[in-house]
Amino acid sequence: MMKTVYLMFCQDCGLPKPLSPHVLIQYIHQEAVKKIYCDNCKSENVIPEYLRKIAIDLVKEG
Ligand SMILES: [Zn+2]
Repeated sequence: MMKTVYLMFCQDCGLPKPLSPHVLIQYIHQEAVKKIYCDNCKSENVIPEYLRKIAIDLVKEG
């Protein structure tokens, strides 16, 4: 199985935050979750639409 990691770039400091498929499925996929905190500058990042779509796809694929 391929080890895929998705990246979300912080809107403030630009640092990429790696997100595992597990995180996408368990966390990003949930409608209630709107934001992710940057590990570097701790700023709130609104979850980008493309990440939400990837998460939805991952859930569909099971
Ligand atoms: Zn940041």
